[in-house]
Amino acid sequence: MNNIEKCAVCHGQEFDTFLEVKDYMITQEQFTIVECKNCGFHFTNPIPEENQIGEYYKSEEYISHSSTKKGVINFLYNVVRNHTLKQKVKWIKNTTGGRRLLDIGSGTGHFLKTANENGFSGYGIEPDDDARSFAHKEHHIRSCAQEELYKIDTKSVDVITMWHVLEHVYHLEKDIEEIHRILNSSGKLFIAVPNMGSYDAKYYGEFWAAYDVPRHLYHFQKTDISKLFLKKGFALEKVIPMRFDSYYVSMLSEKYKKRFSLFGFVIGFISNMKAKKNGYSSQVYVFEKK
Ligand SMILES: [Zn+2]
Repeated sequence: MNNIEKCAVCHGQEFDTFLEVKDYMITQEQFTIVECKNCGFHFTNPIPEENQIGEYYKSEEYISHSSTKKGVINFLYNVVRNHTLKQKVKWIKNTTGGRRLLDIGSGTGHFLKTANENGFSGYGIEPDDDARSFAHKEHHIRSCAQEELYKIDTKSVDVITMWHVLEHVYHLEKDIEEIHRILNSSGKLFIAVPNMGSYDAKYYGEFWAAYDVPRHLYHFQKTDISKLFLKKGFALEKVIPMRFDSYYVSMLSEKYKKRFSLFGFVIGFISNMKAKKNGYSSQVYVFEKK
């Protein structure tokens, strides 16, 4: 295990234990989420070594990487995904002038396929070999291994997207610096992450499915993510709600609590109603270069 000694947001070195959470998805192992005493940022600590984390992704159930339609939750996930894909393309189209797109953590390439069908010229960065070859075979999407990120030409990209990816990234500060380098001066950055300040996060506590330890290394709220990116030369332009995530996450959390998963619909609905105060279950943060 790898003990994190420095907060990524403020570089503080003192942390309080915030919550003990189980890896309900795969291993059932217990992990700790800590809170930085100085700035309040939450992160999983300790975390598995980088070369061990692959073991924690090995499951049929980890649907981010597959298209299997098993069970009600997964079925709904796929229906909603198709709708969300189109919505994401609309967001980036309305916000950016340029069409050179880089999707970091492009997975099986569904988003890039939809974007490229709508006028973008996009490619991906994806650490998983199988996902990369699937994207190529099924969708004719070009994606490269993680190391390629550091070789991309300076200011050569108009829009960078990371859809539920930043919370998984091992070299957080270094990668944000690289993103800043490769994005052109008027470029836009779209980051979707779960929001641990949301009503559903507070309602479910240790059972909240979007803690998803140890795969999620960081547990963001609007204040932390703005501070982190501000430090690296980005300004927060706007926050876009992801209204379906509260339903999906709440249903999964009900499953972890061993209750009736459809009850999650009610909590998801309440969470969206209370989002003015707490923010949505997941949100997209749109950044521009300062
Ligand atoms: Zn801190």
